Amino acid sequence: MIIVFKPHPDEADVRAIEAKVLEYGYEPRIIRGVERTVIACVGDEIEHQSLEALQVLPFIERVIPVQKRFKVVSREFHPSNSIIDLGPAKIGAGHFMMIAGPCAVESREQLRQVTKDAVAAGVKVIRGGVFKPRTSPYDFQGMGEEGLKLMAEVRDEFGVAIVTEVLAVTHLKAAAEVADVLQIGARNCQNYHLLEMVADMGRPVLLKRGMATKIEEWLLAAEYLMVHGCQNVILCERGIRTFENATRFTLDLGAVAIAKRESHLPVIVDPSHPAGVADLVLPLSRASIACGADGLIVETHPNPPEACSDAAQQIRSSEFKAFMDNLEPLIALCSPDNANPTAFS
Ligand code: PEP
Ligand code: MN
Repeated sequence: MIIVFKPHPDEADVRAIEAKVLEYGYEPRIIRGVERTVIACVGDEIEHQSLEALQVLPFIERVIPVQKRFKVVSREFHPSNSIIDLGPAKIGAGHFMMIAGPCAVESREQLRQVTKDAVAAGVKVIRGGVFKPRTSPYDFQGMGEEGLKLMAEVRDEFGVAIVTEVLAVTHLKAAAEVADVLQIGARNCQNYHLLEMVADMGRPVLLKRGMATKIEEWLLAAEYLMVHGCQNVILCERGIRTFENATRFTLDLGAVAIAKRESHLPVIVDPSHPAGVADLVLPLSRASIACGADGLIVETHPNPPEACSDAAQQIRSSEFKAFMDNLEPLIALCSPDNANPTAFS
């Protein structure tokens, strides 16, 4: 941290702050300019108490942190890209992971058809919400545990890995019995109690960025997961709220590039929710791959107009193979370890 004094501070004030800095466990280095005095505080800002509260003193102008607030998720801590192995597929360090499936699990027939079509397109990881975070309490809330049973059936029949969202601590046990990856949705990105509890389930976690969550806050949410015992975190950018309303959310690809630069964790993109309509999903997917995403999570449905949620943005599952054919050359180009791009692992 760097403590900047207002011009011409009293020597007694400088000495008092120096003593405070020492008391907090930092090593103070006083630098005196013609007008300005600053104290550079040497020490680990994560382990020591923050000095930012000193900013309230009348003779202090600013206290500037110099260290990042996340540690275990950072590249400094783990320089190489992490790889997460889900069994049928891997993600990270050149392993591209395609995840596809319905917004919500609606019936056995719907989930089987989506899975069949996705598997035919080379997909090995299926998504599907059974606990749905809906804006209106009158909208379809998901099938709950009945839906988990259907997910277990397709997992066993097709040998795919399963991703499903948990909204509350009460969902964790049942979801972790079926799912290979537990999804924390945008609305719960900063639900710290849920993050701590989900970290304890021994499953990889797909952490969506909140729609009003800064990149640093998103990475700190991942830090919560990791310090509470979850070693396998997949970051997912899914669009943020801006003034723009031509798209449902604004896909922030800058956040993907920054998350990849700052963290060793795999970063994927959900192009479906920012698109809001199916025809935008392909261009957003292409842009995401080009900018370095380690994977995509795409909503697909056998008959989108009849979907119980997010009907407009789901890709018809019978058309998913053509969608994948379009992306494969780009995936092979951008994820060089994918020797066989149709395998996606
Ligand atoms: C979802 O994946 O279906 C979902 C609800 O996503 P988000 O949390 O990004 O809105
Ligand atoms: Mn959805």
